Amino acid sequence: MPVPAIAVMPFSEKLQAPFLKHRISVLQINLGKICNLACSHCHVEASPTRTEELTPEICKQLIEIIQRFPQIQTVDLTGGAPEMLHGFRSLVKSARNHGKEAIVRSNLTIYFEKGYEDIPEFFVQNQVRVVASMPCYLEDNVDKMRGKGVFDRSIQALQWLNRLGYGSDPQLILDLVYNPQLPTSNKFSLAPDQQSLQIAYKQHLQEHFGIYFNSLFTITNLPIGRSKVHLQHRKLEEEYSHFLETHYNSATLDHLMCRNQLSIDYQGNIYDCDFNQMENLPARSQNGEALTITKILELGNLDIIQDIQTADYCYGCTAGSGSSCGGSLL
Ligand code: SF4
Ligand code: SF4
Repeated sequence: MPVPAIAVMPFSEKLQAPFLKHRISVLQINLGKICNLACSHCHVEASPTRTEELTPEICKQLIEIIQRFPQIQTVDLTGGAPEMLHGFRSLVKSARNHGKEAIVRSNLTIYFEKGYEDIPEFFVQNQVRVVASMPCYLEDNVDKMRGKGVFDRSIQALQWLNRLGYGSDPQLILDLVYNPQLPTSNKFSLAPDQQSLQIAYKQHLQEHFGIYFNSLFTITNLPIGRSKVHLQHRKLEEEYSHFLETHYNSATLDHLMCRNQLSIDYQGNIYDCDFNQMENLPARSQNGEALTITKILELGNLDIIQDIQTADYCYGCTAGSGSSCGGSLL
């Protein structure tokens, strides 16, 4: 007998009030899709064979935005492996020269690739906040998700950053990111409690490898990108979406990262968040126009979005304690 489809209430209906943008203070820039890894949970579907990256023209416009808008407090660089992509160093320097926090979402292993060995020193010189993927503190789990040998190289990279002062010098912040394993059956669970997991990570990494770091961010896997393909292969996509919906928590809404950020792709298009970027759901002005950085520079205004664009994968950010690039929300 065919299994009946599980209905998920559209996220837009679940919201009982307009979902409005707040004042923009974060610019998250996705520099492209090239990466030295090809992780199974990657929502960007990045890999060494991708070729998409920022162009010099778009980079110049981004630097102009960083210079012109003092309301931007944080410039958050992601990819792919942002360190491999055009514009990486000039965007970091521009952000720091204008007194903004510069965040780099780093996969750690890139520092061992030819031509990138000076990246940790570059981070120190520019007081970059490093947010590093470490989906588990156990070797098997990490290598299963990210490729053989990735755990060892990640450990060596964290030790390297520690030797340079990361995790101990208050100016050199090192945060780790935990992603749950992708489900292989319908026994779903949300990410464990962030505080308790942080304690476990700190204990394990310190005892076994002498590693220390600042905070751990737990991030829920949204059913998009490679995670969606994984779920579809196992016929789990609808059930997983339903599971996320049943854990919907309206208290997360005010804290979602899409409220105060612009997410920009390597072509200069603007989205409300990185997930919408990957799903090609552009941010829109009040008259319904899709936005670009050229438009923002013409208008001289960052705050031209009223309503945030949503889709059913938004249940992933609003389930339980909530989830964002900065971890749990509540
Ligand atoms: S390191 Fe990050 S960007 Fe690269 S494949 Fe893995 S998850 Fe994707
Ligand atoms: S995916 Fe998450 S961050 Fe993006 S619009 Fe939906 S709720 Fe906001």
